[in-house]
Amino acid sequence: MRYESTRTTGKMGATETIITGIAQDGGLFLPESIPFFSKDDLTALGGVGYAERAALVLSRYMSEFSYEELLDYATRAYASGAFTAEEVAPVRPLYGKAHLLELYHGPTCAFKDFALQILPYLLTASLKKQKEESTVVILVATSGDTGKAALEGFQDVPGTRICVFYPEGAISPMQELQMTSQQGQNVMVYAIRGNFDDAQTAVKQIFADEAFQADMRASGMRFSSANSINWGRLVPQIAYYYSAYCDLVNQGRIAMGDICNVVVPTGNFGNILAAYLAKLGGLPIGRLICASNSNNVLSDFIGTGTYDRNRKFYVTTSPSMDILISSNLERLLYLLSGRDHAKLNVLMQSLREQGSYIIDDVMRAQLQDSFWGGCADDAETAATIRRVFEDTNALIDPHTAVAVKVYEDYVKETGDDAPTIIASTASPYKFADTVLRAITGKQDIASNDSFSLIRELERTTNSEAPTALSGLADKQARFSEVVNPDDMRAAIRRWLKEEGEYEIHHHAGRRDGR
Ligand SMILES: *Cc1c(COP(=O)(O)O)cnc(C)c1O
Repeated sequence: MRYESTRTTGKMGATETIITGIAQDGGLFLPESIPFFSKDDLTALGGVGYAERAALVLSRYMSEFSYEELLDYATRAYASGAFTAEEVAPVRPLYGKAHLLELYHGPTCAFKDFALQILPYLLTASLKKQKEESTVVILVATSGDTGKAALEGFQDVPGTRICVFYPEGAISPMQELQMTSQQGQNVMVYAIRGNFDDAQTAVKQIFADEAFQADMRASGMRFSSANSINWGRLVPQIAYYYSAYCDLVNQGRIAMGDICNVVVPTGNFGNILAAYLAKLGGLPIGRLICASNSNNVLSDFIGTGTYDRNRKFYVTTSPSMDILISSNLERLLYLLSGRDHAKLNVLMQSLREQGSYIIDDVMRAQLQDSFWGGCADDAETAATIRRVFEDTNALIDPHTAVAVKVYEDYVKETGDDAPTIIASTASPYKFADTVLRAITGKQDIASNDSFSLIRELERTTNSEAPTALSGLADKQARFSEVVNPDDMRAAIRRWLKEEGEYEIHHHAGRRDGR
């Protein structure tokens, strides 16, 4: 299987794709064709455990790795030490025909662990296969959850260093402490004065800065990305949609071949794109329901065919979705256009220059055939957290609540009540302040003492916080520097230089083989 950029012709293998991250032309990589899983293939997936399912899906996308190699990575990435749920990605009934796909049982309590626990294995193995000896410097822009998941995945992985930028004051206190307390010799964390889009745009500019790249090469280093623009971030997420469908069949809730809808709380469009690839690859998915918060640029786009980021940016209670430039949408546009590079270049140029673009009627019809978009503001999100808890005793985080609300709107508006998988993307304990306010109705709950909030949420709901979060109580913050987006290059240079003496063999890998 070979990979191509959305913007120019030319192909490369999976290993080079993973090392490179973003294409040199600024485009994103996609496989030249989408592997198809027949009903028999799906039945086979249903008969094995999560690591095998992941390895089977990955091996169809990345033939440069053997099934045995991928099974080895998946077994270690999804081991019980890292993921606290036995099923890894459990599917549980919510009410009626709605089910929650719980994607938050990994070490950082959000779905990004699915990709970022296995990406270090894929990346280090890719470097070996490519005989690439430089140290990989991973730059990450985060809206809250990616940063921690990437730090946790790459901590002390030989041959790699990782630097994370998060928007100051725009993530939850728990998310911030998770990152600033990160251990490891090869890690760095900066807050930036700006929002996620500023951070992401600056990181993309650094990747495109040829002079900086040349300097890096001269010192035996090269940049890569752990954001969902990297194909290695996306492909492991395809696996859990296959897995969820198989689980529903195994639980007797659907028959093999029945159509299911999927609802995804969406920011950078990575997670829902993974579901779309699963649909193209034979998984019987009907509609993909894209749920946004007040930053509803995506639901507007799906409704109208016009993408327009020129609008007010809101800081919401679902911060991982506070995004106005959804990078992975470029991959969807490429597929909808029939892989038309010229068309993509026109759209992306318009996005760069005007902050907007309009797709043609053919593309819009195709888009609306597979997708439906809706949004929920903070008040609706809070009301949904409370109602779901009162009605079903399920405690959901604000991102999941956005998805549940939009699901309900979808059913009301379309009458389509097919069995549905709702991606539950984070632990409610990661957003204890918001969840507690929603459930108790008390608005005067302060956000600053995360750990007394966790204890109060445990008492109020008679549930237990993940130890990955409660255990942070005795951790100290190691990182506190704040930089302007314009100074990110300088900050990276400073960090790389300060630790210029860093030698990978001085730090034995935290886990063997990484
Ligand atoms: C990252 C994130 C999202 C958005 O996912 P995308 O792949 O960026 O669309 C939603 N919910 C949570 C909890 C997240 O961490």
